[in-house]
Amino acid sequence: MFKRIFKGYFKVNLLVKITVGLVLGVIFGAILGKHILWVQPFGDLFVNLLKMVVVPIVFASLVVGASSINPKQMGKIGIKIFIYYMITSAAAVALGLLMGNLFAPGKGMQLNAGGEATLSNALNTPPPSFSETLLNIVPSNPFEAISSGNVLQIIFFALLLGIAISILKSSEDVSKQELGKLFSQFFTAIAEATFIIVGWIMQYAPIGVFALIAVVIAKGGTQSLEQIGILILATFVGYVLQVVLVYSGLVRLFRLSPIRFFKGIRSAMLTAFVTRSSSGTLPVSMEDCEENLGVEGDVYSFSLPLGATINMDGTAIYLGVCVIFLANAVGSPLTFGQQMTVILTAVLASIGTAGVPSAGLFMLAMVMKAVGLPLEAGTAVAAAYAMVAGADSILDMGRSWVNVTGDIAGTCIVAKTEKQLDLSKWK
Ligand code: ASP
Repeated sequence: MFKRIFKGYFKVNLLVKITVGLVLGVIFGAILGKHILWVQPFGDLFVNLLKMVVVPIVFASLVVGASSINPKQMGKIGIKIFIYYMITSAAAVALGLLMGNLFAPGKGMQLNAGGEATLSNALNTPPPSFSETLLNIVPSNPFEAISSGNVLQIIFFALLLGIAISILKSSEDVSKQELGKLFSQFFTAIAEATFIIVGWIMQYAPIGVFALIAVVIAKGGTQSLEQIGILILATFVGYVLQVVLVYSGLVRLFRLSPIRFFKGIRSAMLTAFVTRSSSGTLPVSMEDCEENLGVEGDVYSFSLPLGATINMDGTAIYLGVCVIFLANAVGSPLTFGQQMTVILTAVLASIGTAGVPSAGLFMLAMVMKAVGLPLEAGTAVAAAYAMVAGADSILDMGRSWVNVTGDIAGTCIVAKTEKQLDLSKWK
């Protein structure tokens, strides 16, 4: 009997399981109140598991991402697409922060009320100022940065290492080339292996989400649910604005028809939405570019894989809104300086986000730490994070859709400026 339940559990789709965990958590929390508080350790276990993989995932996927950029291909097309990716990512975080300030999700939740879920220690010490954050980006000891989980320093070092590896890989000297390949395979292996571990952790997610949400509801009542609703709304308004204003606007600026653009990428958008993976959507994005939009292979075969690795505008929006939600939920709204730190960190974190389902959720944990909201089991921050994790599948569908749409918009724009676009397909 137990064996059957166990086997059955693994057969059910993960999204369904997490949603059931969320719903049951709400019901049990509301009905049993403080009698359900004993499940807290099951939630704490989930938080610890997540934290365990954050640094390896971020580090390895950033190195892999940066090392996959071929410096020889980084000609005019490369530079153009890179600039486009950076500008749209910064716009996306800013939009996310704007939505966060406008909708103010999490406001008045006071998850830390009652004294039991204490605020993390770091909140008692003032968070670093923006200029301090900038200066601190360069680690004096990268290993120390990794072991203490210093986000920006890890990102900075990983990017440099990745770029160095890509230069090695394309060296004229065969032995250097070999070394570069070896290094790149090594980090790819770490990234892939960590994703397998993430897969296991996600199998525990339904139980973890159940426990964390039950405790949140038992302590804070169903008012917390309303706040998740506002969080989802704020994020989706941000997603839609990014697509409708930023991408359509840019496409139009370069004299292309936004309607034709969206029609041409219907399959890619839908695939991204349902698979929640930019990398998984790559073949469909490429086909849409080739068949429907008339982009030359030279352009999309470089820009799309690069975009699926480093350009995550949807994730950037999500990070902006969620950090504001978390800070509000624990009763310590972000100052202007902290929001500036979020822009910098979230752009870098979005670059480091792998194009696979739920990757953004791990990045969020990194960004939180940078603004002085570290994820520690049993704290109010962890309770708020659990709420975001419970809603992650919905949020992830939206952000993957935006991520992929942004990559293709940039690809078309660069192709147009390089005269590598078959304009007859746009009529
Ligand atoms: N799932 C997203 C993607 O593949 C990444 C994320 O989780 O933010 O584009």
